[in-house]
Amino acid sequence: MKNRKLASSRIKRVIIWFSSVMLTSLLSVLITAFVEKINLFVALLLVLKWISTAVLFVLTFRIPVWIIISVVFLVFILVKLIATRKKKPDEPWKQYKMDCFKKWLFEWKYSIRGGIIGLEAICKKCKCLLSSSNERHYHDPNRHLYCPNCDSKYDSISNKMLSDVKKIIINRIESGEYKSSPYFKK
Ligand SMILES: [Zn+2]
Repeated sequence: MKNRKLASSRIKRVIIWFSSVMLTSLLSVLITAFVEKINLFVALLLVLKWISTAVLFVLTFRIPVWIIISVVFLVFILVKLIATRKKKPDEPWKQYKMDCFKKWLFEWKYSIRGGIIGLEAICKKCKCLLSSSNERHYHDPNRHLYCPNCDSKYDSISNKMLSDVKKIIINRIESGEYKSSPYFKK
C-alpha cells in the first residue's frame, strides 16, 4: 500500500515536470516564431525537434495517453497558427521604400515594428548610394554629394533634412498619398 502511494506520487512528479518542460519548449517555439518572423520551414523544424524530445520522454517514462494526445493537439494548433500567420500578406505600405523629396531621391527600409530605418539618398540616374565629397567637415561650403558610379553631383543633406524626410514619409503613409507615388511598387 505504502509502496503504491510512493509510486503514484513519483509518477505525479514526473508528469508535472514533463508538462512544465513541454510547455516551456512549446512557448519558446511560439515566441521565436512570432518575434523573429522566421519562415514556416524553420518553424516546422523547431516543432519537429520539439516532438522528438517529447517522444524520447514518452519512451523513457511511461506517460499517460491523455498527455500525449494533448501535446499532439497543441503541436497541431501551433503549426496551424504559424501557417495562417505566414499566409497573411504584409501591409501594402511596406512596399513603399523609395521616393523623391525636395531635390533628392531617397531609399529606406522598415524595422519589424514598422519604423523607418536606413534612410539614404541615392542617385536619380543609376540608384547607386551617394558619397559625400567631404565626410569630416560638415561645414565645408564646397561639400556636396556625388554618385560613385556615374559621377552625378547633388547638394549635401543635413541631419535636419533627413529627419524632415522621415516625417514626410510617415505623413504620406498615413494619408495614403504614397499609393500615387511613381516609386511605389505594388
Ligand atoms: Zn549615378
